[in-house]
Amino acid sequence: MDVAYIRVSIFTAVLVGCAVAEYWKPKRPLRQPKLYRWTNNLGLTGLNSVLIYITMPLLAVEAALWAQSLQIGLFNELSINFPMLIIISVLILDFAIYWQHRLFHTMPICWNLHKVHHADQDIDVTTGARFHPLEIWISMWIKICVVISLGIPPIAVIVFEVVLNASAMFNHSNISIPRVWDKRLRKLIVTPDMHRVHHSTIRAEADSNFGFFLSIWDHLFDTHTARPKLGHYKMNIGISQFRSRKEQRLDKMLTQPFRKK
Ligand SMILES: [Zn+2]
Ligand SMILES: [Zn+2]
Repeated sequence: MDVAYIRVSIFTAVLVGCAVAEYWKPKRPLRQPKLYRWTNNLGLTGLNSVLIYITMPLLAVEAALWAQSLQIGLFNELSINFPMLIIISVLILDFAIYWQHRLFHTMPICWNLHKVHHADQDIDVTTGARFHPLEIWISMWIKICVVISLGIPPIAVIVFEVVLNASAMFNHSNISIPRVWDKRLRKLIVTPDMHRVHHSTIRAEADSNFGFFLSIWDHLFDTHTARPKLGHYKMNIGISQFRSRKEQRLDKMLTQPFRKK
């Protein structure tokens, strides 16, 4: 079966699953009409897919196939059994994404791009796929460098991309999860309550909870914030610079990184 077909099927299944859960057990009332946000957020996701397809000479999985065919990269020098190699590769890629996310909060030029993700004034499943095209482009090149230098197997890249995508949609979902379950889950993975703190308008809170799949990196590097100061229901979400409704429009999102205050 075609890999692209599997990816799109899993993306759609997770999107629908999270959307149903949000409807059934919502956490916070949304500030903006759902149709308006979904049209713009998913419009940006669609645009990103087209732009990546047109502008990238190769994708991460193709880079992995290339490295494998030439037997380059650290893992091609070592003899690690295959299941262990997949687990190690997924862990390393998630670790790289954690540090990449920290970099995007630290470097002003990167933060300007990443602000588009944070400018959403609500969080729901579609926020998880809302990124500026240039951020997606830079992320892809970082991933390609990691994949080639380590010789990460193509199947591990596919597994990681599917898991990361599903995880990002889940942890941006506006779902109410019982506190006891949230506490158990966030020992290992990023939960919606954990990632919501990262979307706070308070910069110190936004500069914490950087994980997208595993929460262990935030625990390990002391960047975990358990809950927002104002609580999950009263906390403000978004970026103070972009508060008007029209800023949620696709054309406005594309220009946000290049506008002066
Ligand atoms: Zn962020
Ligand atoms: Zn986010």
